[in-house]
Amino acid sequence: MNNKTLSQRISIALLTLFLAAATAFPWSGTLRGAQQAASPNLQASMTKLETELIAKYGEGQRARLKPGLQQVASFWRAEDGDAAAFEDLVRTHFAGDPATLDMMFNRFQYNLEQLNGHMGEIGREFRNQSDLDVGPILGFDEVFAGYDPSAHINDDFFSNKLAFVVLLNFPLTTLEQRLAEGDKWSRREWAEARLAQRFSKRIPADVNQAVSRAAAESGRYIAEYNIWMHHLVDANGNRLFAPKLRLLSHWNLRDEIKANYSDAQNGLAKQRMIQQVMERIVTQAIPEAVVNSPSYDWNPFTNEVKSASVNDAEGAKAASAAPQGNLNKPEPNTRYAKLLLAFQAMRKVDPYSPTAPTYIARSFNEGREIPEARVKAILEQVLSSPLVPQVAKLIEARLGRPLEPFDIWYNGFRARGAYTEAQLDEIVAKRYPTAQAYEKDIPNLLMKLGFSKERAQYLANNIVVDPARGSGHALGAGMRTAKTHLRTRVEKGGMNYKGFNIAVHEMGHNVEQTLSLNDIDNTLLQGVPNTAFTEALAFVFQGHDLELLGLAKPDAKSQALKTLNDFWGTYEIAGVGLVDTAVWHWMYDHPNAPPAELKDATVQISKDIWNKYYAPVFGKRDVVLLGIYSHMIDSFLYLPDYPIGHLIAFQIEEQMEKAGNIGPEFERMATVGSVTPDLWMKKATGAPVGPDALLTATKKALAEVGSLPKS
Ligand SMILES: [Zn+2]
Repeated sequence: MNNKTLSQRISIALLTLFLAAATAFPWSGTLRGAQQAASPNLQASMTKLETELIAKYGEGQRARLKPGLQQVASFWRAEDGDAAAFEDLVRTHFAGDPATLDMMFNRFQYNLEQLNGHMGEIGREFRNQSDLDVGPILGFDEVFAGYDPSAHINDDFFSNKLAFVVLLNFPLTTLEQRLAEGDKWSRREWAEARLAQRFSKRIPADVNQAVSRAAAESGRYIAEYNIWMHHLVDANGNRLFAPKLRLLSHWNLRDEIKANYSDAQNGLAKQRMIQQVMERIVTQAIPEAVVNSPSYDWNPFTNEVKSASVNDAEGAKAASAAPQGNLNKPEPNTRYAKLLLAFQAMRKVDPYSPTAPTYIARSFNEGREIPEARVKAILEQVLSSPLVPQVAKLIEARLGRPLEPFDIWYNGFRARGAYTEAQLDEIVAKRYPTAQAYEKDIPNLLMKLGFSKERAQYLANNIVVDPARGSGHALGAGMRTAKTHLRTRVEKGGMNYKGFNIAVHEMGHNVEQTLSLNDIDNTLLQGVPNTAFTEALAFVFQGHDLELLGLAKPDAKSQALKTLNDFWGTYEIAGVGLVDTAVWHWMYDHPNAPPAELKDATVQISKDIWNKYYAPVFGKRDVVLLGIYSHMIDSFLYLPDYPIGHLIAFQIEEQMEKAGNIGPEFERMATVGSVTPDLWMKKATGAPVGPDALLTATKKALAEVGSLPKS
């Protein structure tokens, strides 16, 4: 499950930006400093050191030494010392022979593994009270939970000069190099590339703070953007939604649209009303007074606002907000002002990232490691697939009416399972009365998934099961001497089916985390390329949960329905990803635009992408719904990850089916490690990241469900 909190998502975005990121100084290229070109006195030192150290270590070291000197000089600041300090560092720490270089590599690899592991351990232990079902949370527990002991590591490693030791001896690489040459690199070369990448940025503290502040501010704006649904009224004054229902934009609003497909009586009217609300948020025509307030009644079609004639809010909050002034005054483009604030903060990082000099480049080339042009091409391939109108036709037939724009969130491709939820709850509760019972059964479960007896026991020995306070999650170990943790929710009467389903998913994460750390050749390559890969591997486990209970697996028809559901979801979110990306390009092209202009641009971009890929299917033009995602405002170019994640999941699933046995295939895939996504996928499945597996599965699913002739 991707149940990250907002602050976790922000800190991940920042991590991606500052640490995991790779900039771009090839050994062979000309290095232009991020902070400034090397100052003249360092230039003289560099010339002197080159002559001196080549005399000492031989001509063969020149190809390493020269760019290493440039890398150090480009990150060197006045506070690091004078030319003599620079020379001293280079003389002391240049590893001029292979044996010394090997020792250096191995010790950095080991020590950084320890650092990761212990930092992870501190973070995990400090969050125990808030994450585990172990009694009340006091105020200070939350401070412990929010503390990040690793926050200053990058600064520390520059000030104690360990970062410079790495930059002197190991090459920074560009995404272009990693893509073009990566499949010819040795594993050691890959590990060296990842080692150097850890120190590829040195962003001044005030710039980091500006980014954190902007992220926190947009996060707060989004976190408090609720609509009080009982206060939405139609032309006849009817309230379609229950009292007290408060929905957060966009997640809860979208999920309410999905939920209402099963309400035969009022569902359609509710869905139309929510679409209207969403559109007014995107265009900022929404009256400011109705945002997060139960004090007013609002007709989102006419945009009329009145003082609330019912009170469904508790406490002082509703009473204090008395109606004042012009109730119809629209929200003053706050949504876009917050996004601009983030954009301006991200731009401050640009000068410190010379080879990925925009946030867009950092997001695609460093965070995702798939170039923007390829991501765009892949998404467009899904959006313009001839399968889209075929699936759309099937949805219309199932709904018994023409599609409306909110049907991009259609969720009716669901099979009725062979067992009811209550039956499954009973089976699971009997088998797993406690978290310990589940832990004890892990070797057995893994053997059912095809792992050998020895491997199943080995993997189980590396998983600790804890009772979670909320829903489940999995925590990796970070170092080989530690264990992964599986957090699962167990009710008083035993585990229920939902908890079991999540536990199986999390167990997939734990197994991936164990294999990709303990069984990999270099711990610097621990993990997978990005979250989409670990999620895809976890979904493989989760998809077999019924078989793990000894029940029949889902039949071909329900598998086909699930595929169609995933295809439609990918089609929907692919367009959203394109809107997000296009908006960032517009901001870079108009860096001084005010919020009102950014709003107009976003509305236009949303319409353009809708008109190109959705209007032909939905028969309606100029819809702005694609601009509603809150991630656009608080998660900064995260949205393209979702459709790519679906495609990756289908590729991995297809490969598992081909192999016919999950265990050994899972072990093989999980030890490829943190290389580029395309290289990982080629090693795992023989093809780079792409939409073919999804499209093939969708074609088959359509045939299964009966709208296409079987061929
Ligand atoms: Zn997950």
